[in-house]
Amino acid sequence: MEVRAKKALGQHFLTDQSIARSIVAALELPEEMKSSVLEIGPGMGVLSQYLLARPEVDLRMIEIDNESVDYLTRHFPSAAGKVIYGDFLKLGLDSLFPESFNVIGNFPYNISSQIFFRILDFKERIPQVVCMIQKEVAERIAEKPGSKTYGILSVLLQAWYDIEYLFTVGSGAFAPPPKVQSAVIRLKRNSRTSLGCDEAMFKNIVKTSFGQRRKTLRNSLKPLVAAKASREGWDADRIAEFTASPVFELRPERLGVEDFISLTRQIQ
Ligand code: SAH
Repeated sequence: MEVRAKKALGQHFLTDQSIARSIVAALELPEEMKSSVLEIGPGMGVLSQYLLARPEVDLRMIEIDNESVDYLTRHFPSAAGKVIYGDFLKLGLDSLFPESFNVIGNFPYNISSQIFFRILDFKERIPQVVCMIQKEVAERIAEKPGSKTYGILSVLLQAWYDIEYLFTVGSGAFAPPPKVQSAVIRLKRNSRTSLGCDEAMFKNIVKTSFGQRRKTLRNSLKPLVAAKASREGWDADRIAEFTASPVFELRPERLGVEDFISLTRQIQ
């Protein structure tokens, strides 16, 4: 018996084996040692089967659907003890992976942003991510500044990861076919160890400015500048002088990671 696809869980099972092989092959790991790999949402194991066949992969899978968990353990004896029944967003990653681990999966598209925010929380331990997501989201994440779709996740992920758009996958490769096209991307941790500015403030500035992306930074960041002004005891003239800097004329999609860092240094 196959697993009955459940829409609420974002279940679209990849049926094209050659695409599955390409996704698994896109995960680049050293061959001379074992590397921990976490697969998010294995479903019926179309990726897992190829991951289990790679000797350098120490695989764990996290799956929220008990029917899929049953299917996996029945069909893949080598998956025994490696499938965790639960929600990735609530998984205790600290105890499961005290050291580094890589992430792979055909992500449930309805929670892909939340998955990326969680990956960012563990960025010091996640050197590489290979995933299939909705094509628009993939483009947005990989996009450079200046484009309409460049947004919060583009900046936050690009701050810590080098991102490659690998290939597009049509909806015909899935059962049932999703309404949208898909794409596979690879994220590799870059060499950055610190932003050189307050990290929480950086996130806050990125989120606040894209929260009102049609406004200039002068308008959208007003509350943060006001908070700075009260900390520093600035009067209105000093505030006007501060926000006269040309960067405040811009909308957030024009700023790259480095620009957001220097803006944070000014406002923190
Ligand atoms: N990897 C499979 C399935 C992809 S569909 C394939 O390529 O065919 C997405 C999978 O993620 C489904 O199996 C779904 O049950 C699972 N899933 C959805 N939400 C999840 C969550 N919060 N944590 C773990 N798995 C989840």
